[in-house]
Amino acid sequence: MSGTTSGVRAIIERLRPLQAGVRSRSALAAAVVMTLCLAIAGAVLSVVLYRSLESTAETAAGLRAERIAAALRSDDLDDLDSTLLATDGQIGVVQVVGATGVIRAASNGAPRSPLAVVHLDDGEARNLGRVESSTDDEYWVSARGATVDREPVTILVAVDREPVEEIVAKVGALLALGSPLLIALVAAGTYRLVGAALRPVEAIRTRVASISSADLTERVPVPRTGDEIAELATTMNAMLARLEHGRAAQLRLVGDVSHELRSPLATITAALELAAGRPELMDRDLIDESLLPESRRMNELIEDLLLLARSDEGALGLRRDDVDIDDLLAAEVSRLDAEVEVVTDIRACRVVGDTAALSRVIRNLADNAARYARTTVTLTCRPEPGCVVVTVADDGPGIPAGDRSRVFERFVRLDAARTRASGGTGLGLAIVDEVVRSHHGTVTVGDAPGGGAVFTVALPQQDPPDQSSVSERSR
Ligand code: ADP
Repeated sequence: MSGTTSGVRAIIERLRPLQAGVRSRSALAAAVVMTLCLAIAGAVLSVVLYRSLESTAETAAGLRAERIAAALRSDDLDDLDSTLLATDGQIGVVQVVGATGVIRAASNGAPRSPLAVVHLDDGEARNLGRVESSTDDEYWVSARGATVDREPVTILVAVDREPVEEIVAKVGALLALGSPLLIALVAAGTYRLVGAALRPVEAIRTRVASISSADLTERVPVPRTGDEIAELATTMNAMLARLEHGRAAQLRLVGDVSHELRSPLATITAALELAAGRPELMDRDLIDESLLPESRRMNELIEDLLLLARSDEGALGLRRDDVDIDDLLAAEVSRLDAEVEVVTDIRACRVVGDTAALSRVIRNLADNAARYARTTVTLTCRPEPGCVVVTVADDGPGIPAGDRSRVFERFVRLDAARTRASGGTGLGLAIVDEVVRSHHGTVTVGDAPGGGAVFTVALPQQDPPDQSSVSERSR
């Protein structure tokens, strides 16, 4: 059957240059397969029919010969029942041939010469198969030995092949006539069925063609069939949703960045315009209090954005140093000491990672804690099996449970007025998240025991992973 399949495939391959549509190709393939099946089925049917008719005829001939032999055991040839020598629709010739080849009795119209010359013992029977008579007719002949007047004779009963061949020919002709109709029906049915199956595909294609990059809110129609095409449509819709989400995030980022840059740039422009009109106003105070802080703010924002962009591309270029986390925390303690009260529980902890990036993580968390703390910031680090756990807690207002995963997103500020005024860009925690993830660690936020927020960073102690995993996780 695999030969047939590869044959069909070869025919379809050969027709490929015609660039027929899926419908036509499927209809053609169905027609070719149907033709092959009908041809094989027709051939098998004809052979089986022929063989079974032949065997029925031979059995009838054998029986007649046996009955004649039985009659000759008690009767003379002359007394032989005439029905035993009669021909019918099946039996065409009966001959009783003597030992010398003389025909001693025969059916009406039988050839004058014996159909076959065989010598059989009394009671011995044999199928002689296909035999051609002197009149050019073809028979299947059954022979049986018998004795008449102590002389051995051979009873020959011949079955006409013509009726059998006629039946087989008729069946063949019917098949040959009916097959094209059947093949045409199968091809037309396949053409229609494939057309119906492809209609949703066309609907999906039309919709996809009409979706522009500017409006990604549209979705492709999902057929209610629950089949592979419905699955394809669902997958495409999921992809469109991701694209829409990505584009919305992109637009939001552009908006946020413009928004963040606008106010320092406006301050700088206003100061410079003022100074252009009245150069005597461009004094040290204006530079120190307005121009430098605003341009530093812009610089920081751009640096942060570049770091996040590099992280998105998986190109943070992290080093693999032995980093003493306790040393990084100790450095923060001395920095914060002037602003707030700092409580510590710092144990020796070492991880493999990028010193600068990890110290940035701790600085961002510590800065936030100091900014929101009422009086106290608590810094701890401790080794745990397989990882190092760092916590940065404060006794400030804390972060509401519903906002805890949102605060790690870019440009999210829960208290915009306050943080903008104090220089926050809303990128600090996003950077913490990216750097920690690039070290295969986790960062979470919860409630500190004394009220306020506590950020917990867990860093694995093994080698930092490669960069490719950085942007894999999406929040
Ligand atoms: P920002 O530059 O505004 O500090 P971050 O990404 O560091 O940006 O923080 C995002 C927001 O999370 C902050 O605007 C603030 O609302 C909230 N937040 C961060 N740390 C704390 C904290 N320790 N206590 C309360 N709120 C915090």
